[in-house]
Amino acid sequence: MEPHCKGLKAITSPHTGIVDWGVVTKHYGKNFEAQGGDIFCDYEVKGFRVNKESKAGEQSGLQYPVTVHGSKGKSIRCRYVVTCGGLFADRLAQLSGCNPVPRIVPFRGDYLLLKPEKCHLVNGNIYPVPNPRFPWLGVHLTPRVDGSVWLGPNAILSFKREGYSMMDFSLRDVVESISFSGLRKLAMRNISFGLGEMYRGVVISAQVKQLQRFVPELKAYDVTRGPSGVRAQALDADGQLVDDFVFDGGVGEIGSRVLHVRNAPSPAATSSLSIAKMIADKIQNTFTL
Ligand SMILES: Cc1cc2nc3c(=O)[nH]c(=O)nc-3n(C[C@H](O)[C@H](O)[C@H](O)COP(=O)(O)OP(=O)(O)OC[C@H]3O[C@@H](n4cnc5c(N)ncnc54)[C@H](O)[C@@H]3O)c2cc1C
Repeated sequence: MEPHCKGLKAITSPHTGIVDWGVVTKHYGKNFEAQGGDIFCDYEVKGFRVNKESKAGEQSGLQYPVTVHGSKGKSIRCRYVVTCGGLFADRLAQLSGCNPVPRIVPFRGDYLLLKPEKCHLVNGNIYPVPNPRFPWLGVHLTPRVDGSVWLGPNAILSFKREGYSMMDFSLRDVVESISFSGLRKLAMRNISFGLGEMYRGVVISAQVKQLQRFVPELKAYDVTRGPSGVRAQALDADGQLVDDFVFDGGVGEIGSRVLHVRNAPSPAATSSLSIAKMIADKIQNTFTL
């Protein structure tokens, strides 16, 4: 196994093109710090404020007019702010006065794992032809860098934005989702698909049946339950799934200093470097640097 990028040893499988994403992001972070950036983990942004700025050309002009208020009472001063909040992108946008819509609705994706003695059944990535009604790829079979094979994911409405298990529940998230007319419209249009996904989420053999279209030899006893992810699905007021990038600012003074990336749909991880370039161009055009 040859690494694809210098310094990223054994995190990528050239045969499948799959990478260990956690390791890749750590390297992104190291590059950022090497160029003078600071990273604060465990820091929840609670609000933005623009401090009174002196007139252009005045000696006393504020260099960092924006204050980002965070958890634990810690504030950060900066010139401009770019947010990429994933599952909380709409809430971050509202902090600078943006419209709550497009709303983020969380859809959990559960994976099944192929038992180790059955991993020989899948030698490369197997993808379905996507259903044009949905922005999701549909269940696929993915050999991973560590030799395991992931099957899925499905798409089930989650009762919590960061709800990675079936039992996770947040009253605020549920109330926000079901009181949003866009979600109700989406549900009415796709009721049988939604119920089918919920059924397949509980009954493994039903999910395996879908996968047998690609690997007919697969049996329900060849798989175990695996990890889950939660998609940050942006929905518009008509219940349409937003499948393109959405950028937003805000109102008043803060609006000219904040850029929110409100929707970065999959495969935003794979294409993160190109997306970063697009965001950098957007920053050049939006802010007076
Ligand atoms: C099951 C699943 C499988 C996927 N598979 C693939 C794939 O194979 N390939 C691919 O390219 N993409 C895949 N994706 C999609 C990919 O993960 C997303 O498109 C991408 O992560 C979006 O990036 P983002 O920066 O917008 O959001 P995120 O990666 O979600 O990052 C948002 C960050 O903002 C932080 N945050 C939120 N609110 C606050 C706050 N108030 N203060 C501070 N921080 C905050 C969060 O903690 C998080 O770290 C998959 C997604 C899922 C759910």
